[in-house]
Amino acid sequence: MTASLPPDYHTHTQLCRHAGGLPIDYARAAAARGIPEIACTDHIPFPDDPTPSIRMTREEFDAYLGHVREAQAAGSCEVLLGIEADYQRDLVQGHVQALLDAADFDLVLGSLHTGPFWDLAPDDPAATPEFVEQMNRTYYRRMAELADTRLYDVCSHFDVVKRTGVRAPETLLAEIVPPALDAVAAAGMAVEINTSGLNHGAAETYPSLQILAWMKERGIPITFGSDAHNPDQVGQHFERAVELAKAAGHVHRAQFRRRKKLLVPLA
Ligand SMILES: [Zn+2]
Ligand SMILES: [Zn+2]
Repeated sequence: MTASLPPDYHTHTQLCRHAGGLPIDYARAAAARGIPEIACTDHIPFPDDPTPSIRMTREEFDAYLGHVREAQAAGSCEVLLGIEADYQRDLVQGHVQALLDAADFDLVLGSLHTGPFWDLAPDDPAATPEFVEQMNRTYYRRMAELADTRLYDVCSHFDVVKRTGVRAPETLLAEIVPPALDAVAAAGMAVEINTSGLNHGAAETYPSLQILAWMKERGIPITFGSDAHNPDQVGQHFERAVELAKAAGHVHRAQFRRRKKLLVPLA
Protein backbone atom coordinates (compact mmCIF):
# COMPACT_ATOMS: atom_id res chain seq x y z
CA MET A 1 0.00 0.00 0.00
CA THR A 2 2.63 2.52 1.01
CA ALA A 3 4.70 1.84 -2.10
CA SER A 4 2.24 3.76 -4.25
CA LEU A 5 2.15 6.98 -2.23
CA PRO A 6 2.90 10.14 -4.23
CA PRO A 7 5.82 12.51 -3.55
CA ASP A 8 5.48 14.92 -0.64
CA TYR A 9 6.05 18.39 -2.06
CA HIS A 10 5.59 20.45 1.10
CA THR A 11 7.95 20.01 4.07
CA HIS A 12 9.59 22.43 6.50
CA THR A 13 12.79 22.37 8.55
CA GLN A 14 14.00 23.66 11.87
CA LEU A 15 15.26 26.82 10.15
CA CYS A 16 11.71 28.23 10.22
CA ARG A 17 11.77 28.12 14.03
CA HIS A 18 8.45 26.34 14.37
CA ALA A 19 9.41 22.99 12.88
CA GLY A 20 11.78 20.22 13.89
CA GLY A 21 14.33 18.29 11.84
CA LEU A 22 16.54 18.82 8.83
CA PRO A 23 15.93 17.83 5.20
CA ILE A 24 17.95 14.65 5.70
CA ASP A 25 15.57 13.61 8.51
CA TYR A 26 12.53 14.23 6.31
CA ALA A 27 14.12 12.24 3.46
CA ARG A 28 14.75 9.28 5.76
CA ALA A 29 11.21 9.44 7.13
CA ALA A 30 9.83 9.54 3.58
CA ALA A 31 11.90 6.54 2.49
CA ALA A 32 10.68 4.61 5.53
CA ARG A 33 7.08 5.31 4.48
CA GLY A 34 7.66 4.26 0.87
CA ILE A 35 7.50 7.84 -0.42
CA PRO A 36 9.89 8.10 -3.36
CA GLU A 37 10.46 11.83 -3.43
CA ILE A 38 10.13 14.93 -1.27
CA ALA A 39 10.54 18.63 -1.82
CA CYS A 40 12.06 20.77 0.90
CA THR A 41 9.94 23.91 0.93
CA ASP A 42 10.85 26.00 3.92
CA HIS A 43 9.51 29.56 4.29
CA ILE A 44 11.33 32.14 2.20
CA PRO A 45 13.26 34.84 4.09
CA PHE A 46 11.83 38.36 4.04
CA PRO A 47 13.66 41.66 4.32
CA ASP A 48 12.65 43.56 7.48
CA ASP A 49 10.84 40.41 8.45
CA PRO A 50 7.33 41.16 9.74
CA THR A 51 7.19 37.67 11.26
CA PRO A 52 10.74 36.76 12.31
CA SER A 53 9.63 33.77 14.35
CA ILE A 54 8.43 31.71 11.42
CA ARG A 55 11.12 31.91 8.76
CA MET A 56 14.84 31.68 8.12
CA THR A 57 16.79 34.91 7.83
CA ARG A 58 18.50 35.91 4.59
CA GLU A 59 21.81 35.01 6.26
CA GLU A 60 20.53 31.46 6.83
CA PHE A 61 19.52 30.94 3.21
CA ASP A 62 22.87 29.41 2.22
CA ALA A 63 22.67 27.05 5.19
CA TYR A 64 19.25 25.97 3.91
CA LEU A 65 20.69 25.20 0.48
CA GLY A 66 23.47 23.24 2.18
CA HIS A 67 21.00 21.19 4.22
CA VAL A 68 19.06 20.29 1.08
CA ARG A 69 22.23 19.32 -0.78
CA GLU A 70 23.24 17.13 2.15
CA ALA A 71 19.88 15.32 1.99
CA GLN A 72 20.23 14.92 -1.80
CA ALA A 73 23.67 13.38 -1.36
CA ALA A 74 22.48 10.96 1.33
CA GLY A 75 20.21 9.30 -1.23
CA SER A 76 17.44 7.89 0.99
CA CYS A 77 14.94 9.25 -1.52
CA GLU A 78 14.80 11.86 -4.28
CA VAL A 79 15.04 15.33 -2.69
CA LEU A 80 13.95 18.45 -4.56
CA LEU A 81 14.98 21.99 -3.75
CA GLY A 82 11.87 24.03 -3.17
CA ILE A 83 10.71 27.00 -1.18
CA GLU A 84 7.40 28.27 0.17
CA ALA A 85 7.38 31.86 -1.03
CA ASP A 86 4.58 33.54 0.87
CA TYR A 87 2.71 36.12 -1.15
CA GLN A 88 2.86 39.52 0.52
CA ARG A 89 1.48 42.35 -1.59
CA ASP A 90 3.86 44.94 -0.23
CA LEU A 91 7.12 43.25 -0.89
CA VAL A 92 6.42 40.90 -3.76
CA GLN A 93 8.20 40.94 -7.03
CA GLY A 94 11.68 42.39 -6.63
CA HIS A 95 12.62 40.66 -3.41
CA VAL A 96 11.01 37.31 -4.11
CA GLN A 97 12.33 37.19 -7.67
CA ALA A 98 15.88 37.93 -6.45
CA LEU A 99 15.75 35.00 -4.04
CA LEU A 100 14.24 32.68 -6.61
CA ASP A 101 17.09 33.61 -8.95
CA ALA A 102 19.66 32.89 -6.23
CA ALA A 103 19.35 29.09 -6.46
CA ASP A 104 18.32 26.37 -8.89
CA PHE A 105 14.89 25.63 -7.48
CA ASP A 106 12.84 22.63 -8.56
CA LEU A 107 9.57 24.16 -7.43
CA VAL A 108 8.23 27.25 -5.73
CA LEU A 109 5.10 27.19 -3.59
CA GLY A 110 2.91 30.29 -3.44
CA SER A 111 0.77 30.77 -0.36
CA LEU A 112 -1.05 33.25 1.83
CA HIS A 113 -0.70 33.20 5.61
CA THR A 114 -1.76 36.67 6.63
CA GLY A 115 -5.34 37.54 7.43
CA PRO A 116 -7.88 37.22 10.23
CA PHE A 117 -8.72 33.69 9.06
CA TRP A 118 -5.52 32.27 10.51
CA ASP A 119 -6.74 32.20 14.11
CA LEU A 120 -10.36 33.32 14.02
CA ALA A 121 -12.19 31.14 16.53
CA PRO A 122 -15.56 29.84 15.29
CA ASP A 123 -17.24 31.28 18.39
CA ASP A 124 -15.55 34.68 18.09
CA PRO A 125 -18.30 37.34 18.09
CA ALA A 126 -16.36 39.08 15.30
CA ALA A 127 -17.13 36.17 12.97
CA THR A 128 -20.41 37.62 11.68
CA PRO A 129 -21.70 36.46 8.29
CA GLU A 130 -20.69 39.83 6.80
CA PHE A 131 -17.18 39.55 8.23
CA VAL A 132 -16.76 35.98 7.00
CA GLU A 133 -17.97 36.97 3.54
CA GLN A 134 -15.52 39.87 3.35
CA MET A 135 -12.67 37.74 4.70
CA ASN A 136 -13.30 35.12 2.00
CA ARG A 137 -13.69 37.65 -0.80
CA THR A 138 -10.41 39.30 0.17
CA TYR A 139 -8.61 35.97 0.50
CA TYR A 140 -9.61 34.63 -2.93
CA ARG A 141 -8.92 37.98 -4.57
CA ARG A 142 -5.39 37.75 -3.13
CA MET A 143 -5.02 34.20 -4.42
CA ALA A 144 -5.81 35.45 -7.92
CA GLU A 145 -3.24 38.23 -7.46
CA LEU A 146 -0.70 35.64 -6.32
CA ALA A 147 -1.27 33.66 -9.52
CA ASP A 148 -1.10 36.82 -11.62
CA THR A 149 2.46 37.53 -10.39
CA ARG A 150 3.61 34.43 -12.34
CA LEU A 151 6.25 33.87 -9.64
CA TYR A 152 5.07 30.49 -8.40
CA ASP A 153 4.64 26.91 -9.59
CA VAL A 154 2.17 25.50 -7.06
CA CYS A 155 -0.60 27.06 -4.97
CA SER A 156 -0.27 25.90 -1.40
CA HIS A 157 -3.18 25.24 0.96
CA PHE A 158 -5.45 26.94 -1.58
CA ASP A 159 -8.52 27.29 0.69
CA VAL A 160 -6.71 27.78 4.00
CA VAL A 161 -9.15 30.62 4.67
CA LYS A 162 -11.31 27.87 6.27
CA ARG A 163 -8.42 26.94 8.60
CA THR A 164 -10.15 27.26 11.96
CA GLY A 165 -13.45 25.85 10.75
CA VAL A 166 -15.11 29.21 10.03
CA ARG A 167 -16.68 28.56 6.63
CA ALA A 168 -18.25 30.64 3.93
CA PRO A 169 -21.61 29.45 2.55
CA GLU A 170 -21.38 27.18 -0.52
CA THR A 171 -23.24 29.74 -2.64
CA LEU A 172 -20.61 32.37 -1.90
CA LEU A 173 -17.76 29.94 -2.60
CA ALA A 174 -19.37 29.03 -5.92
CA GLU A 175 -19.24 32.73 -6.81
CA ILE A 176 -15.73 33.66 -5.64
CA VAL A 177 -13.56 30.53 -5.91
CA PRO A 178 -13.88 29.78 -9.67
CA PRO A 179 -12.44 33.18 -10.71
CA ALA A 180 -9.40 32.54 -8.49
CA LEU A 181 -9.01 29.10 -10.07
CA ASP A 182 -9.25 30.69 -13.52
CA ALA A 183 -6.26 32.86 -12.58
CA VAL A 184 -4.36 29.81 -11.34
CA ALA A 185 -5.12 27.94 -14.57
CA ALA A 186 -4.06 30.94 -16.67
CA ALA A 187 -0.76 31.02 -14.78
CA GLY A 188 -0.16 27.34 -15.60
CA MET A 189 0.17 26.53 -11.92
CA ALA A 190 -0.61 23.33 -10.07
CA VAL A 191 -2.51 23.24 -6.76
CA GLU A 192 -1.38 20.97 -3.96
CA ILE A 193 -3.62 18.75 -1.87
CA ASN A 194 -2.36 19.81 1.53
CA THR A 195 -3.25 17.26 4.18
CA SER A 196 -2.47 19.45 7.20
CA GLY A 197 -6.03 20.79 7.08
CA LEU A 198 -7.18 17.43 8.40
CA ASN A 199 -5.33 18.29 11.63
CA HIS A 200 -6.83 21.78 11.89
CA GLY A 201 -10.27 23.12 12.81
CA ALA A 202 -11.21 22.82 9.14
CA ALA A 203 -10.92 19.01 9.49
CA GLU A 204 -10.61 18.75 5.71
CA THR A 205 -7.81 18.79 3.17
CA TYR A 206 -6.85 22.08 1.53
CA PRO A 207 -8.56 22.30 -0.88
CA SER A 208 -11.94 20.61 -0.46
CA LEU A 209 -13.35 17.93 -2.73
CA GLN A 210 -15.59 20.54 -4.41
CA ILE A 211 -12.59 22.72 -5.27
CA LEU A 212 -10.64 19.68 -6.51
CA ALA A 213 -13.53 19.05 -8.91
CA TRP A 214 -13.51 22.68 -10.11
CA MET A 215 -9.75 22.32 -10.67
CA LYS A 216 -10.29 19.20 -12.73
CA GLU A 217 -12.76 21.10 -14.95
CA ARG A 218 -10.01 23.67 -15.62
CA GLY A 219 -7.21 21.18 -16.17
CA ILE A 220 -5.31 22.37 -13.08
CA PRO A 221 -2.94 19.57 -12.03
CA ILE A 222 -2.37 18.45 -8.45
CA THR A 223 0.58 17.78 -6.20
CA PHE A 224 0.50 16.36 -2.68
CA GLY A 225 1.91 18.05 0.40
CA SER A 226 1.81 17.18 4.08
CA ASP A 227 3.12 20.59 5.20
CA ALA A 228 5.15 18.50 7.67
CA HIS A 229 6.72 20.52 10.46
CA ASN A 230 8.22 17.34 11.87
CA PRO A 231 9.69 14.32 10.06
CA ASP A 232 7.03 11.99 11.47
CA GLN A 233 4.38 13.97 9.54
CA VAL A 234 5.85 13.25 6.10
CA GLY A 235 3.14 11.79 3.89
CA GLN A 236 0.55 12.12 6.64
CA HIS A 237 -3.01 11.33 5.44
CA PHE A 238 -1.77 10.75 1.87
CA GLU A 239 -3.94 7.64 1.38
CA ARG A 240 -6.98 9.82 2.03
CA ALA A 241 -5.67 12.58 -0.25
CA VAL A 242 -5.20 10.14 -3.14
CA GLU A 243 -8.77 8.90 -2.66
CA LEU A 244 -10.08 12.46 -2.77
CA ALA A 245 -8.07 13.30 -5.88
CA LYS A 246 -9.51 10.29 -7.66
CA ALA A 247 -13.02 11.05 -6.42
CA ALA A 248 -12.70 14.48 -8.04
CA GLY A 249 -11.63 12.87 -11.32
CA HIS A 250 -7.89 13.51 -11.23
CA VAL A 251 -5.85 10.79 -12.93
CA HIS A 252 -2.48 12.58 -13.06
CA ARG A 253 -0.23 14.43 -10.67
CA ALA A 254 2.38 17.02 -11.48
CA GLN A 255 6.05 16.22 -11.03
CA PHE A 256 8.60 19.03 -10.93
CA ARG A 257 12.25 19.33 -11.90
CA ARG A 258 13.97 22.72 -12.24
CA ARG A 259 10.61 24.43 -12.27
CA LYS A 260 9.32 22.41 -15.23
CA LYS A 261 6.25 20.33 -14.64
CA LEU A 262 5.49 16.95 -16.06
CA LEU A 263 2.20 15.08 -15.67
CA VAL A 264 2.52 11.50 -14.49
CA PRO A 265 -0.26 8.98 -13.90
CA LEU A 266 -1.61 8.87 -10.38
CA ALA A 267 -0.78 5.42 -9.05
ZN1 LIG B 1 5.47 26.71 8.64
ZN1 LIG C 1 2.06 27.60 4.34
